[in-house]
Amino acid sequence: MQQQVTATVKMVFDCSAAESPNEHRDRIAEDIGRLYDADSTTGVACTGFEIEAIKPPATSRIHFLCAGCGSPDVRADAYTEWDVEAGAWVLHSVYDDKTCETCGSRCSLVEVDEATGIEIEAFGMISEGEDARLVKDDETPEYYDLIVKTVPKEGGGTTDETFILHEFDDMDRAEVEIRLAAMEQLFPLSGVAFHFGRADQ
Ligand SMILES: [Zn+2]
Repeated sequence: MQQQVTATVKMVFDCSAAESPNEHRDRIAEDIGRLYDADSTTGVACTGFEIEAIKPPATSRIHFLCAGCGSPDVRADAYTEWDVEAGAWVLHSVYDDKTCETCGSRCSLVEVDEATGIEIEAFGMISEGEDARLVKDDETPEYYDLIVKTVPKEGGGTTDETFILHEFDDMDRAEVEIRLAAMEQLFPLSGVAFHFGRADQ
């Protein structure tokens, strides 16, 4: 006796960037059709398929920051409803009240587009007495600093203030490379600027 079992499968395709989502869908359907025509070797028979959704690559990622302190650790009041199929409470609606977990206040939020509003900056530094300054072109840095910050409005960002999202100081070259790689993973669409001086490129 046979019964119909539905499998939900995630398949990843490299598609031409010059083509539209509809063209992608058609080409993917044709390609799956080619697989579907192949003879089964495991005793199951695929009797049909349907493409329910295709997902384009992310071109924009939005961050919300506390307008008071700049922390991304913010919460919104929301209602959930019981979903019988999922067996879990799922989001129903989101309300206006927002709170910040860092400064503990009710707050308003700043919306920041990662691609245009957040940048990663790495600095080569030289100590000078009590102070420190940015490395000059012909110098080799003594140590390195790294920050992830919002781009101010005049630089194309959306906020008036500059908020620091992450800050790492006093690193050697190997440490700054590791931090940089981690920040590039957290903020994949952000620009990266190096101020390491020409001697250390
Ligand atoms: Zn805050």
